[in-house]
Amino acid sequence: MSPALATRLARLGITRDADLLLHLPLRWEDETRITAIRDLRPGFTAQVQATVNEASVAYRPRRTLTVSVSDDGGDVLGIRFLNFYPSHIKLFQPGACFRFVGEVRGGFFGLEMVHPRFSKAGSDTPLPNGLTPVYPTTAGLGQATLRKLIERALVAPIEDTLPADWLDVLGLPALDESIRLLHQPPPDAALAELESRRHPAWRRLAFDELLAQQLSLARARAQRRTRSTRPLPPQHRLTAAFIAALPFALTDAQARTWQEISADLAQPHPMRRLLQGDVGSGKTVIAALACLQAIENGLQAAFMAPTEILAEQHYHKLAAPLAALGVHSTWVSGSQRKAERSKAWQAIAAGEVDLAFGTHALFQEGGTFARLGLAVVDEQHRFGVGQRLALSEKGDEPHQLMMSATPIPRTLAMSFYADLDVSTIDVLPPGRTPVVTKLVSAARRDDVLARVRDACLAGGQAYWVCPLIEESEKLQLQTAQDTFAALTQQLPELRVGLVHGRLKPDEKQAAMAAFKEHELDLLVATTVIEVGVDVPNAALMVIEHAERMGLAQLHQLRGRVGRGSRESVCVLLYENPLSELARARLKVIFEFSDGFEIARQDLQLRGPGELLGHRQSGLPLLRFADLERDVDLLEHAREHARRCLAAHPDIAARHVERWLGGRARLSQT
Ligand code: ADP
Ligand code: MG
Repeated sequence: MSPALATRLARLGITRDADLLLHLPLRWEDETRITAIRDLRPGFTAQVQATVNEASVAYRPRRTLTVSVSDDGGDVLGIRFLNFYPSHIKLFQPGACFRFVGEVRGGFFGLEMVHPRFSKAGSDTPLPNGLTPVYPTTAGLGQATLRKLIERALVAPIEDTLPADWLDVLGLPALDESIRLLHQPPPDAALAELESRRHPAWRRLAFDELLAQQLSLARARAQRRTRSTRPLPPQHRLTAAFIAALPFALTDAQARTWQEISADLAQPHPMRRLLQGDVGSGKTVIAALACLQAIENGLQAAFMAPTEILAEQHYHKLAAPLAALGVHSTWVSGSQRKAERSKAWQAIAAGEVDLAFGTHALFQEGGTFARLGLAVVDEQHRFGVGQRLALSEKGDEPHQLMMSATPIPRTLAMSFYADLDVSTIDVLPPGRTPVVTKLVSAARRDDVLARVRDACLAGGQAYWVCPLIEESEKLQLQTAQDTFAALTQQLPELRVGLVHGRLKPDEKQAAMAAFKEHELDLLVATTVIEVGVDVPNAALMVIEHAERMGLAQLHQLRGRVGRGSRESVCVLLYENPLSELARARLKVIFEFSDGFEIARQDLQLRGPGELLGHRQSGLPLLRFADLERDVDLLEHAREHARRCLAAHPDIAARHVERWLGGRARLSQT
């Protein structure tokens, strides 16, 4: 095999024969039949066998090779090529016989095919005895080459990695049979079932893929249990004092998740736990409790947030109540003054600080912890797997608590977080009034301005979220400043502030503090306020160009209001005309307030790959299985993975090797 070919195959993820076998067709074409030219219908793909009458090249309106052919019935078909070589012209000699496969069109001079596939063939050339596969491919790698390679790989028998009695129970066909059927379906194969991927052969592959994924995640998890770290058993000293000092009682859901985390910390293996809960469900106090359990065992904790605003807010909110318990905190950020930052790091390295808040600066810099026992990662979906890993290297296998307010549906969680333990806060604290969502056309912006004015003059506060401009940060900033200028002018009776990502940290902090202290009535903001910002008196939010935002983002933004006992309103301003997808998204955000339901709808609108985002790309995505369609298989795969690891490690090893091979060494998160 030439190096060029090997490179192209590698681009498709093919490095071994086993990968070729699993490179399955996108669709199939039926070349088992010849259609008479007289029976061709525009819009349908067909194969004809015909003889060349004449071939000619025209130069206007563009260079075109036109070949006129006719079949035994004497009917004529036009064949047109816009890209061709001189050799083509020579090939189509009058009297030469070909088979052409392509979509039929009604052309100006009668029926034609444009750029059909063709091969030289006489009437005695045998027809293929199965459907012809069409493979996903890449530039410079033709279907014919791929087909030949795969055909060759198919010569050897394919060993099944799973025992026959499992397959009987699951009602799935053998691997050999399934793979062959997909590459070379017989002419009478159920094409519709094949194309919708509900055919048993597809199900077998989907199951195998899911099983491989479950096995590798379960293995990562099992491996973690063989690594040891310092257990942090509950001492009930700081944690109990903290709970006693809270101005509210923990909800049942909080108490339950806290028990799970507390027990996990007491294990001698590094904890990797995801705490998920909707926006506003009260994850922060649970994280604080986890930190305290580490600290009461004499270790340090790190509390990492994705934005400076959020990191700082956590610090300001928690530092004082923690200091009252004798806990020393500090905070580290990328844009702190150098002297200040090195002072913070010194204290952390010397072990004078128990708890360090910060952004990713906490682990991207060279600083060290004297004795890091626990790392909390807030809004973990915003961090890459790599960043999470860097954090675990900061200490001697610290325990990790990851938090996410982007709840993902159970099937996705089962699939992609199977290496983590998951705790879920499933109810909101009491006394919340649900947020009323209103969809308002931008044409009625004036009415919205009046509403903001009234709300603020009545003692409330409001957010005005500027449109998201993904293409350009500069334009985004400009828009925020313009919006701020316009609103300052249009609402002269209000005190208006502005926060955006480009402000210096102390400016940002000053603006947020002023808003919190109610020195500002209206805060104009970019989506920097999307995560975690907590000002209960702000009960009105206006989001401009809501149609540009994703569902998760809208849900997070809306979660900034509805935090007090005041009736809260979120106004989504949209610009017409709306795209199909934008309309669907706005409908979902209007109809649903539960984050899990919104995530489920999002999954349906976008598919799992996008929902998890590139940031999760440290995990292998699924090629064949579909988490909506194949839920039943996922359940079986999970159960079989568990049994397989316990009783048949040899099967597990073989199966993972076949499916993931050298490709996906699962990162040990
Ligand atoms: P999130 O889960 O989105 O991070 P937070 O931890 O910021 O939510 O909590 C949102 C708000 O709810 C905060 O003001 C917090 O003090 C408050 N809160 C948390 N737990 C409770 C509770 N059990 N009862 C009442 N309020 C609570
Ligand atoms: Mg939070």
